[in-house]
Amino acid sequence: MSPSPLFYQAGPALPEVSHAKGVYLWDETGKQYLDGCSGAIACNLGHGRDDIREAMLAQLDRVAFTYRTQFENAPAVALGQALVDLTEGELEKVFFVSSGSEAVESALKLARQYFVAKGEPQRRHFVSLRPSYHGSTLGALGVTGYEPLEAPFADIVNASLKVPGPDFYRHAGAGDAHHVEHVLSDTRAAIETAGPETIIAFVLEPVGGASTGARMLDRHYLDGIRALCDEFGCLLILDEVLTGIGRTGAWFAYQHYGVMPDLLATAKGLGAGYYPVGAVLSRADIVDTVMASGGFQHGHTYAGNPLACATGLAVIEVMQRENVLDNVAARGHELKDGLQALKARFPWVGDVRGLGLLWGVELVTDATTKIPFPAEQNRFARITALAKEEGLLIYPRRTLNGVAGDHFLVTPPLTIRADDI
Ligand code: PLP
Repeated sequence: MSPSPLFYQAGPALPEVSHAKGVYLWDETGKQYLDGCSGAIACNLGHGRDDIREAMLAQLDRVAFTYRTQFENAPAVALGQALVDLTEGELEKVFFVSSGSEAVESALKLARQYFVAKGEPQRRHFVSLRPSYHGSTLGALGVTGYEPLEAPFADIVNASLKVPGPDFYRHAGAGDAHHVEHVLSDTRAAIETAGPETIIAFVLEPVGGASTGARMLDRHYLDGIRALCDEFGCLLILDEVLTGIGRTGAWFAYQHYGVMPDLLATAKGLGAGYYPVGAVLSRADIVDTVMASGGFQHGHTYAGNPLACATGLAVIEVMQRENVLDNVAARGHELKDGLQALKARFPWVGDVRGLGLLWGVELVTDATTKIPFPAEQNRFARITALAKEEGLLIYPRRTLNGVAGDHFLVTPPLTIRADDI
């Protein structure tokens, strides 16, 4: 076989996928894999669904692509309305994109344009967490707090102010109010030093994703950040690219906490691996202000095309028809119990944390000291390779200079059955 022209990652050649059905994939040698991470936390309804195929084919037969400034298209309007309804009408405006990075990037630009339109052009900085992951395009990378991805671009990226979030594993017990107060007061101090009048928005994953191994925030912390945003007149942007569309057992993770964002970015599960589609949801007055100033100076060619939106619509319809959120709750408890049980068996399973079907397992040299493995041991890659050898796909990440240990995510399709858990 000639060498592959693709260069996604360094390392050994990958097995070639043959086909997939439900929560399983097969490579061309016939080996079967349980999709324990929905690919990249995207294939949320499993593979090879006839209902989504039918919806996509029907749209393909009608019209696959139209450009958003030439035609309105019914699937886009319907999907936009469905997303608004999922926020119970709190976020009334929708802008479509094709990926999570684009969704975050679009939210950042919309927020900036809002303040320019309002006559506050001095607002030019974002605040975000370290660690965090918000995407790979330069704007989204600017609010990302994850050293390996930032390092090569540090000189050319407009980096946000990075502050630590709560770490209930290393510094406190779950939901520890004292720890949260401490983190919030450090965050306030960092913003005050930077100049609150220069801040556009706070950007946050309501439950951490790959960069943190599903690190949890809590209601108290999110309330505190919301209050800081209100006090300083900046916006709260929630990055629900990974957590949105049911991953945590609610349509959006913020709904567990009752803390309302001003803008929300979502993607991954919206197309469920069948077609790329993402969206920014916004408070109506933000969009109205920007539109009154001449319109949003932004957009991507494939944004909101009929095929993308018909796919997203089919995904939401399947989830509603099959009560997928109930399955997330039930299977989530089973997955949690199973992963927690690993702690008793292996001293190097440090923390097991998550919500719904988004679970992170942090690996440490010893569960008492919580000391991470040395980065050069590549534990995250080794455990992922071992799992794959056994036919289980999990989503790995490396140590972050002592901020967190190696970890992996277990994030199966939301439709997984009990025996597959
Ligand atoms: N934001 C979060 C929280 C993510 O987890 C990801 C992807 O992993 C992104 C943004 C970027 O999404 P995409 O890879 O679709 O550009």
